[in-house]
Amino acid sequence: MARGLAVVNAQIWTMETRGDRADSMLVQGERVSMVGEERTILAKARTSGLPVADASGRTILPGLVDAHTHLVHQGLLQHRLDLRDAPSLSAALRAVRRRLARHRGRGLVLAERWDESRWPERRYPRREELDAITTKVPLILRRVDGHVAVGNRAACDFLRGRLPGVDADTGLLLEEASLNLNQVFPTPLPEATSSLAFAQEQALTLGVTTVHDFVVPSYLRAFEALHRRGRLKVRAHVSLYVEFLDALAHAGVAGGIGDDRLRLHGVKLFGDGSLGGHTAALRQPYADAPGTRGRLNFTDSALRERIRTASTAGLVPSVHAIGDAAVAQAVKALAASGDRRLRPRIEHFEMHAPESVRTVAERGIVASMQPNFVGEWNRPGGLYEQRLASPRYRRTNEFQALRRAGVRLAFGSDCMPFDPWFGLAGCVEAPQPSQRLSVDDALEAYTRGSAWSIGREADLGWLGRGSAADFMVLPTPPRRGTGLAGLRPDATYVAGAAVHARAGRALRSR
Ligand SMILES: [Zn+2]
Repeated sequence: MARGLAVVNAQIWTMETRGDRADSMLVQGERVSMVGEERTILAKARTSGLPVADASGRTILPGLVDAHTHLVHQGLLQHRLDLRDAPSLSAALRAVRRRLARHRGRGLVLAERWDESRWPERRYPRREELDAITTKVPLILRRVDGHVAVGNRAACDFLRGRLPGVDADTGLLLEEASLNLNQVFPTPLPEATSSLAFAQEQALTLGVTTVHDFVVPSYLRAFEALHRRGRLKVRAHVSLYVEFLDALAHAGVAGGIGDDRLRLHGVKLFGDGSLGGHTAALRQPYADAPGTRGRLNFTDSALRERIRTASTAGLVPSVHAIGDAAVAQAVKALAASGDRRLRPRIEHFEMHAPESVRTVAERGIVASMQPNFVGEWNRPGGLYEQRLASPRYRRTNEFQALRRAGVRLAFGSDCMPFDPWFGLAGCVEAPQPSQRLSVDDALEAYTRGSAWSIGREADLGWLGRGSAADFMVLPTPPRRGTGLAGLRPDATYVAGAAVHARAGRALRSR
């Protein structure tokens, strides 16, 4: 079916060059064929027989590219007890008790997204507190970062021997034990697929049209299943976890396999843990746990070997690194054995080693960062200050400093929370000048920057002749200030098709 549309009377932020604006554009098929003045666009629409829509002066932006998501997990949250808004540990435990009262059978109850740094108690839940709720049903409460969970005795008994990192005495499930719960409690494909479908609708209401998602094979199958039915509306580049690297390399499966809607990208390695779990690898001890500096998951040589194997296979390595020691290690390893043509990445990059910034810039290593972490944890008394203390906690998420140094920034949400607008607000209103970006620069990182990071700069992250027709219509222009965090598109388009519209706010042809 031939498809197309002329949009006039808009304020189009093309993102093609810095600050570039246009008032009209022509979409033909799945692409933008022209951006420019209304007169020219109208004439072209007339000769091509395309409908004309008046945007009533509204703002049009390229669709956002979220460089770090977990969409299936995001969708699964709808079925799980969400503790994100629990104001205290005792309130969280009461919510868990209420959920258990409604629970039938002996299946696992998994509650997610607690964050003790926001609670007055300032501590993790304890195993005995969960045993007091139930001894029969396995019960697990997973922290917001995914790297820490606490289980009751029934859960620990079940997990012991199945996953490493289970401490049956404290109930603490650290790193693999928490991150890999879905290996032990797998999600059936229909549930994974419907969760993905649910999360992609959230993406479209936020103006996110492309994601770079991290998957286990069963989640990749959910993407495939949706795509096969023609129901994958967002574009997705997916990276598998490093456990599957050897199998992929052996089978000759390289990044780039797929099409322009669903494409295999690379592999993800965990260089360290999280600040929340005191497992991010720091150069100096934690302020609130002076006995530890966290831990590196790889030796230098093992990390290099994994990166070399991935790069040789044509799979983009994404190295999760949060603490300054882990970031420094990842930079060295990527510089030594990465392939810059693949655009290797460091995920999170929350702290950094000042001496390695030049290498990051020179080697084209992508800093894949989450501006929402500033809004979540950078306020005085928040997680960063608790773990790192002043002045160290102020030197986290230094988007501006990295950008000035010529580092390639890609922005994403990590689904913590899945809300790029909250992230953009966190970044443009960040407390430190070394963090703060202008609205244009922050959007650039969330569009062109992220598109570059997945090798899609030719067609994604901007609007102009030949770009994909992935865009959103906003009711007001994005501005620094209170409205930014709550900004939501009136309508979202992917490949020229309307995939989301708020009632009465769609683009209408005249
Ligand atoms: Zn993640």
